[in-house]
Amino acid sequence: MPRLSEVITALENLWPAARAESWDAVGTVVGDPDQEVTRVLFAVDPVQEIVDEALKLGADLLVTHHPLYLRGTTTVAASTFKGRVVHTLIKNDIALHVAHTNADKADPGVSDALAGALDLRVVRPLVPDPADPSGRQGLGRICELDHPLSLRDFAARAAERLPATAQGIRVAGDPEAVIRTVAVSGGSGDSLFEDVRAAGVDAFLTADLRHHPASEFIADHAHSPLALLDAAHWATEWPWCELAAAQLDEISDRNGWDLRVHVSKTVTDPWTAHAASVTTTENLGAPN
Ligand SMILES: [Zn+2]
Repeated sequence: MPRLSEVITALENLWPAARAESWDAVGTVVGDPDQEVTRVLFAVDPVQEIVDEALKLGADLLVTHHPLYLRGTTTVAASTFKGRVVHTLIKNDIALHVAHTNADKADPGVSDALAGALDLRVVRPLVPDPADPSGRQGLGRICELDHPLSLRDFAARAAERLPATAQGIRVAGDPEAVIRTVAVSGGSGDSLFEDVRAAGVDAFLTADLRHHPASEFIADHAHSPLALLDAAHWATEWPWCELAAAQLDEISDRNGWDLRVHVSKTVTDPWTAHAASVTTTENLGAPN
Protein backbone atom coordinates (compact mmCIF):
# COMPACT_ATOMS: atom_id res chain seq x y z
CA MET A 1 0.00 0.00 0.00
CA PRO A 2 1.63 3.28 -1.09
CA ARG A 3 2.05 6.33 1.09
CA LEU A 4 0.54 9.62 -0.07
CA SER A 5 4.04 10.96 -0.82
CA GLU A 6 4.65 8.12 -3.31
CA VAL A 7 1.33 8.67 -5.08
CA ILE A 8 1.94 12.42 -5.21
CA THR A 9 5.38 11.82 -6.74
CA ALA A 10 3.69 9.75 -9.47
CA LEU A 11 1.10 12.48 -10.07
CA GLU A 12 3.85 15.11 -10.17
CA ASN A 13 5.59 13.09 -12.89
CA LEU A 14 2.41 13.16 -14.96
CA TRP A 15 1.70 16.85 -14.35
CA PRO A 16 4.81 18.68 -13.06
CA ALA A 17 3.79 21.70 -10.98
CA ALA A 18 6.54 23.75 -12.64
CA ARG A 19 4.57 23.63 -15.91
CA ALA A 20 1.51 25.36 -14.41
CA GLU A 21 0.82 28.98 -15.31
CA SER A 22 2.42 31.48 -12.89
CA TRP A 23 -1.03 32.62 -11.58
CA ASP A 24 -2.16 29.06 -10.87
CA ALA A 25 -2.24 27.18 -7.53
CA VAL A 26 -1.57 23.47 -8.10
CA GLY A 27 -0.23 20.59 -5.99
CA THR A 28 -1.23 19.12 -2.66
CA VAL A 29 -3.70 21.26 -0.71
CA VAL A 30 -4.43 18.89 2.19
CA GLY A 31 -2.73 15.66 3.21
CA ASP A 32 -0.14 13.96 5.41
CA PRO A 33 2.69 12.63 3.20
CA ASP A 34 2.96 9.54 5.45
CA GLN A 35 -0.68 8.51 5.30
CA GLU A 36 -1.49 5.38 3.31
CA VAL A 37 -3.57 5.57 0.14
CA THR A 38 -5.93 2.80 -0.96
CA ARG A 39 -8.68 4.57 -2.84
CA VAL A 40 -8.57 7.67 -5.09
CA LEU A 41 -11.39 9.77 -6.52
CA PHE A 42 -10.95 12.08 -9.55
CA ALA A 43 -13.30 15.05 -10.11
CA VAL A 44 -13.31 18.47 -11.77
CA ASP A 45 -14.35 20.62 -8.77
CA PRO A 46 -13.27 20.47 -5.11
CA VAL A 47 -16.76 21.34 -3.83
CA GLN A 48 -18.49 19.95 -0.72
CA GLU A 49 -20.65 17.58 -2.78
CA ILE A 50 -17.53 15.94 -4.21
CA VAL A 51 -15.77 15.79 -0.83
CA ASP A 52 -18.87 14.10 0.63
CA GLU A 53 -18.74 11.63 -2.25
CA ALA A 54 -15.06 10.90 -1.49
CA LEU A 55 -15.97 10.32 2.16
CA LYS A 56 -18.83 7.96 1.30
CA LEU A 57 -16.61 6.06 -1.09
CA GLY A 58 -13.87 5.66 1.53
CA ALA A 59 -11.34 7.51 -0.65
CA ASP A 60 -8.15 8.72 1.05
CA LEU A 61 -7.12 10.93 -1.87
CA LEU A 62 -9.22 13.31 -3.96
CA VAL A 63 -7.60 14.65 -7.14
CA THR A 64 -9.36 17.62 -8.74
CA HIS A 65 -8.68 19.76 -11.80
CA HIS A 66 -9.77 23.05 -10.25
CA PRO A 67 -7.85 24.54 -7.32
CA LEU A 68 -9.64 24.93 -3.98
CA TYR A 69 -7.81 28.19 -3.28
CA LEU A 70 -6.51 30.08 -6.31
CA ARG A 71 -5.51 33.08 -4.16
CA GLY A 72 -4.43 33.27 -0.55
CA THR A 73 -6.87 33.11 2.35
CA THR A 74 -6.83 34.24 5.96
CA THR A 75 -9.35 31.66 7.19
CA VAL A 76 -10.29 28.01 6.84
CA ALA A 77 -13.18 28.40 9.31
CA ALA A 78 -15.88 25.82 8.63
CA SER A 79 -18.38 28.66 8.32
CA THR A 80 -16.93 29.38 4.85
CA PHE A 81 -17.63 26.90 2.04
CA LYS A 82 -13.95 26.32 1.29
CA GLY A 83 -13.16 26.07 5.00
CA ARG A 84 -15.83 23.42 5.39
CA VAL A 85 -14.21 21.47 2.56
CA VAL A 86 -10.84 21.69 4.36
CA HIS A 87 -12.43 20.55 7.66
CA THR A 88 -14.19 17.59 6.07
CA LEU A 89 -10.99 16.52 4.33
CA ILE A 90 -8.72 16.77 7.39
CA LYS A 91 -11.20 15.23 9.85
CA ASN A 92 -11.58 12.22 7.58
CA ASP A 93 -7.93 11.81 6.53
CA ILE A 94 -8.68 12.59 2.90
CA ALA A 95 -5.91 14.31 0.95
CA LEU A 96 -6.60 16.81 -1.84
CA HIS A 97 -4.29 17.24 -4.81
CA VAL A 98 -4.84 19.67 -7.69
CA ALA A 99 -3.60 19.40 -11.31
CA HIS A 100 -4.89 22.42 -13.24
CA THR A 101 -2.95 24.27 -16.00
CA ASN A 102 -0.14 21.71 -15.58
CA ALA A 103 -2.70 19.06 -16.64
CA ASP A 104 -3.95 21.34 -19.44
CA LYS A 105 -0.46 21.52 -20.94
CA ALA A 106 0.53 17.87 -20.38
CA ASP A 107 0.77 15.22 -23.08
CA PRO A 108 -1.72 13.65 -22.75
CA GLY A 109 -3.68 16.45 -21.10
CA VAL A 110 -7.13 17.93 -20.64
CA SER A 111 -7.66 18.83 -24.31
CA ASP A 112 -6.43 15.40 -25.48
CA ALA A 113 -9.15 13.84 -23.32
CA LEU A 114 -11.69 16.28 -24.79
CA ALA A 115 -10.56 15.44 -28.34
CA GLY A 116 -10.75 11.74 -27.52
CA ALA A 117 -14.32 12.08 -26.23
CA LEU A 118 -15.26 13.76 -29.53
CA ASP A 119 -13.48 11.10 -31.61
CA LEU A 120 -11.03 13.65 -33.04
CA ARG A 121 -7.48 12.90 -34.15
CA VAL A 122 -5.02 15.20 -32.38
CA VAL A 123 -2.47 16.79 -34.71
CA ARG A 124 -0.62 19.20 -32.38
CA PRO A 125 -1.09 21.68 -29.51
CA LEU A 126 -2.94 24.91 -30.31
CA VAL A 127 -0.37 26.89 -28.29
CA PRO A 128 2.78 24.77 -28.01
CA ASP A 129 4.72 25.07 -24.74
CA PRO A 130 8.05 26.70 -25.77
CA ALA A 131 9.77 24.80 -22.94
CA ASP A 132 8.83 21.43 -24.46
CA PRO A 133 11.27 20.18 -27.14
CA SER A 134 8.85 17.39 -28.23
CA GLY A 135 6.34 20.00 -29.46
CA ARG A 136 3.49 17.88 -28.03
CA GLN A 137 2.75 19.81 -24.84
CA GLY A 138 0.85 23.06 -24.60
CA LEU A 139 -2.64 24.58 -24.39
CA GLY A 140 -5.52 23.32 -26.55
CA ARG A 141 -5.23 20.90 -29.45
CA ILE A 142 -5.58 21.16 -33.24
CA CYS A 143 -7.52 18.11 -34.42
CA GLU A 144 -8.86 16.48 -37.56
CA LEU A 145 -12.06 14.56 -38.17
CA ASP A 146 -11.61 11.22 -39.92
CA HIS A 147 -14.78 11.97 -41.89
CA PRO A 148 -15.89 15.58 -42.43
CA LEU A 149 -19.20 16.55 -40.81
CA SER A 150 -21.55 19.49 -41.20
CA LEU A 151 -21.44 21.93 -38.29
CA ARG A 152 -24.94 20.73 -37.36
CA ASP A 153 -23.78 17.09 -37.17
CA PHE A 154 -20.56 17.95 -35.37
CA ALA A 155 -22.53 19.89 -32.73
CA ALA A 156 -24.87 16.89 -32.39
CA ARG A 157 -21.84 14.66 -31.85
CA ALA A 158 -20.50 16.99 -29.14
CA ALA A 159 -23.92 17.03 -27.46
CA GLU A 160 -24.00 13.23 -27.54
CA ARG A 161 -20.40 12.50 -26.48
CA LEU A 162 -19.86 15.06 -23.73
CA PRO A 163 -21.60 14.47 -20.39
CA ALA A 164 -25.02 16.11 -20.25
CA THR A 165 -25.37 19.56 -18.70
CA ALA A 166 -28.21 22.09 -18.65
CA GLN A 167 -26.36 24.24 -21.17
CA GLY A 168 -25.83 21.64 -23.87
CA ILE A 169 -23.85 22.99 -26.85
CA ARG A 170 -24.22 26.56 -28.16
CA VAL A 171 -23.28 26.99 -31.81
CA ALA A 172 -22.31 30.01 -33.96
CA GLY A 173 -21.97 29.59 -37.71
CA ASP A 174 -23.58 28.14 -40.83
CA PRO A 175 -25.09 24.76 -39.83
CA GLU A 176 -24.22 23.36 -43.27
CA ALA A 177 -20.55 24.42 -43.14
CA VAL A 178 -18.21 21.44 -43.59
CA ILE A 179 -15.98 20.77 -40.58
CA ARG A 180 -12.69 18.97 -41.26
CA THR A 181 -10.37 20.55 -38.71
CA VAL A 182 -11.20 21.68 -35.15
CA ALA A 183 -9.35 23.46 -32.38
CA VAL A 184 -10.43 22.25 -28.92
CA SER A 185 -9.58 23.64 -25.51
CA GLY A 186 -10.99 22.31 -22.24
CA GLY A 187 -12.26 25.08 -19.93
CA SER A 188 -12.49 28.81 -20.70
CA GLY A 189 -11.14 29.33 -24.21
CA ASP A 190 -11.78 32.90 -25.28
CA SER A 191 -8.21 34.02 -24.64
CA LEU A 192 -7.18 31.67 -27.47
CA PHE A 193 -9.09 33.26 -30.37
CA GLU A 194 -5.97 34.67 -32.05
CA ASP A 195 -4.24 31.29 -31.92
CA VAL A 196 -7.36 29.60 -33.34
CA ARG A 197 -7.49 32.11 -36.19
CA ALA A 198 -3.79 31.56 -36.91
CA ALA A 199 -4.32 27.79 -36.97
CA GLY A 200 -6.76 28.11 -39.89
CA VAL A 201 -9.23 25.49 -38.58
CA ASP A 202 -12.92 25.17 -39.51
CA ALA A 203 -14.26 25.25 -35.94
CA PHE A 204 -13.34 26.00 -32.32
CA LEU A 205 -14.90 24.01 -29.49
CA THR A 206 -14.36 25.30 -25.96
CA ALA A 207 -16.30 26.78 -23.00
CA ASP A 208 -17.22 30.13 -21.44
CA LEU A 209 -17.17 32.12 -24.70
CA ARG A 210 -18.27 35.71 -24.02
CA HIS A 211 -20.37 38.01 -26.21
CA HIS A 212 -17.71 40.48 -27.39
CA PRO A 213 -14.83 38.16 -28.27
CA ALA A 214 -17.27 35.73 -29.95
CA SER A 215 -19.13 38.37 -31.97
CA GLU A 216 -15.92 40.11 -33.04
CA PHE A 217 -14.51 36.78 -34.12
CA ILE A 218 -17.60 35.87 -36.13
CA ALA A 219 -17.71 39.33 -37.74
CA ASP A 220 -14.11 39.11 -38.93
CA HIS A 221 -14.75 38.83 -42.67
CA ALA A 222 -11.08 39.27 -43.48
CA HIS A 223 -10.66 35.57 -42.69
CA SER A 224 -12.51 32.44 -43.76
CA PRO A 225 -15.66 31.65 -41.75
CA LEU A 226 -15.06 29.83 -38.51
CA ALA A 227 -17.70 28.04 -36.46
CA LEU A 228 -17.83 28.28 -32.67
CA LEU A 229 -19.11 25.58 -30.33
CA ASP A 230 -19.50 26.48 -26.66
CA ALA A 231 -19.99 23.63 -24.19
CA ALA A 232 -20.36 23.79 -20.40
CA HIS A 233 -16.97 24.38 -18.73
CA TRP A 234 -17.36 21.28 -16.54
CA ALA A 235 -18.31 19.06 -19.50
CA THR A 236 -15.18 20.02 -21.47
CA GLU A 237 -12.91 19.07 -18.54
CA TRP A 238 -14.66 16.00 -17.17
CA PRO A 239 -13.21 13.64 -19.85
CA TRP A 240 -9.78 14.40 -18.34
CA CYS A 241 -10.86 12.75 -15.07
CA GLU A 242 -11.30 9.44 -16.89
CA LEU A 243 -7.96 9.83 -18.69
CA ALA A 244 -6.16 10.76 -15.45
CA ALA A 245 -7.77 7.89 -13.53
CA ALA A 246 -6.64 5.44 -16.24
CA GLN A 247 -3.09 6.85 -16.04
CA LEU A 248 -2.98 6.41 -12.25
CA ASP A 249 -4.50 2.93 -12.55
CA GLU A 250 -1.70 1.92 -14.89
CA ILE A 251 0.96 3.33 -12.51
CA SER A 252 -0.70 1.47 -9.64
CA ASP A 253 -0.56 -1.82 -11.58
CA ARG A 254 3.07 -1.26 -12.50
CA ASN A 255 4.02 -0.60 -8.88
CA GLY A 256 1.78 -3.30 -7.39
CA TRP A 257 -0.06 -0.64 -5.35
CA ASP A 258 -3.50 -2.16 -5.82
CA LEU A 259 -5.17 1.27 -5.71
CA ARG A 260 -8.90 1.55 -6.28
CA VAL A 261 -9.31 4.48 -8.68
CA HIS A 262 -12.71 6.12 -9.26
CA VAL A 263 -14.12 8.99 -11.34
CA SER A 264 -16.95 11.09 -9.94
CA LYS A 265 -20.02 11.15 -12.15
CA THR A 266 -21.55 14.03 -10.20
CA VAL A 267 -22.28 17.04 -12.44
CA THR A 268 -20.81 20.08 -10.69
CA ASP A 269 -21.46 22.57 -13.48
CA PRO A 270 -23.08 25.53 -11.67
CA TRP A 271 -25.84 25.88 -14.29
CA THR A 272 -28.68 23.47 -13.55
CA ALA A 273 -31.53 24.37 -15.91
CA HIS A 274 -32.09 25.80 -19.38
CA ALA A 275 -35.28 27.51 -20.55
CA ALA A 276 -35.45 27.72 -24.34
CA SER A 277 -36.43 31.17 -25.69
CA VAL A 278 -39.88 31.42 -27.29
CA THR A 279 -40.58 35.13 -27.83
CA THR A 280 -39.04 37.20 -30.65
CA THR A 281 -38.41 40.95 -30.42
CA GLU A 282 -41.34 41.45 -32.83
CA ASN A 283 -43.68 39.87 -30.33
CA LEU A 284 -42.25 41.55 -27.24
CA GLY A 285 -43.96 44.80 -26.34
CA ALA A 286 -46.34 44.59 -29.30
CA PRO A 287 -49.76 46.14 -28.67
CA ASN A 288 -52.51 43.54 -28.32
ZN1 LIG B 1 -11.58 24.67 -15.77
